[in-house]
Amino acid sequence: MKEAIASLDQLGLATVLVGDDPASQIYINLKHKAAREVGIQATDVRLSAETTQDELLERIAELNGDSSIQGLLVQLPLPDHLDEAAIIRAVDPAKDVDGLHPLNAGQLYLGRPTLVPATPVGIMALLAEYDIELTGAKAVVVGRSDIVGKPVAHLLLQQHATVTICHSRTRDLARETLDADVLVVAVGQSALVTADMVKRGAAVVDVGMNRTEAGLTGDVDPAAMDVAGYMTPVPGGVGPMTIASLLGNTVRAARLQRGSFEFRAS
Ligand code: NDP
Repeated sequence: MKEAIASLDQLGLATVLVGDDPASQIYINLKHKAAREVGIQATDVRLSAETTQDELLERIAELNGDSSIQGLLVQLPLPDHLDEAAIIRAVDPAKDVDGLHPLNAGQLYLGRPTLVPATPVGIMALLAEYDIELTGAKAVVVGRSDIVGKPVAHLLLQQHATVTICHSRTRDLARETLDADVLVVAVGQSALVTADMVKRGAAVVDVGMNRTEAGLTGDVDPAAMDVAGYMTPVPGGVGPMTIASLLGNTVRAARLQRGSFEFRAS
């Protein structure tokens, strides 16, 4: 990443945090620390929880127009009085390093190269690094959020997996997960997936980050490691890959803005 960044004259990432949600503050601090480490100029915009929709839109417009900033993200969730969808739409799609703008989400849906949310990008990099076969594999994604579940399902589909998406209304979750050669779990419930729900030898990606009395836990019971062929740990695993992929997305956004980037969706 440092090499890629050194090849650019300058690289700027701006984050906007509204309010004082403790988990969001931790995520923002981690992003800035990582950005600084690789030589990205990070701008940390912090606004009070009382910020109005118009004030936030104005701030985003300023950052959109600032040529020293190539990547821009608004940390979610936003306070309830703000219209999240409208805020996401206000971010310049070419600077949208979270890949949440409808234009980028639509490009992903169409299987076209675009800026893709960082967590799914990190998950695909992990699967590629460990040579997990995806063509023809049965992939099951548990969770259908815009930031993890849906985009990772699209990326797996692009890699020719046969994809099933599960959610809170899925009738028999264990029946679906037991069939999975590749299982991605992004729900936010500690140990929702137990060892007896995992197919022997499967590649299991645990996206969950649950703050419990026992510390940070995933959505998959660690006992499933005895059954799985591969499994990402929590903490570790997907979390650090998300941060790294956000930095990668910032480089991609900069290249896109210079017109020198050949888009690849994964
Ligand atoms: P959301 O709350 O947006 O989505 C959760 C999804 O889980 C929903 O689609 C919901 O279904 C589904 N769900 C809820 N209960 C069940 C159930 N019993 N069985 C099956 N599906 C269920 O969460 P996110 O996608 O934003 O995040 C998921 C987890 O991943 C969280 O722990 C979050 O902290 C973590 N995370 C970790 C990241 C990392 O870098 N490691 C990055 C982003 C998130 P429905 O749609 O029907 O409500």
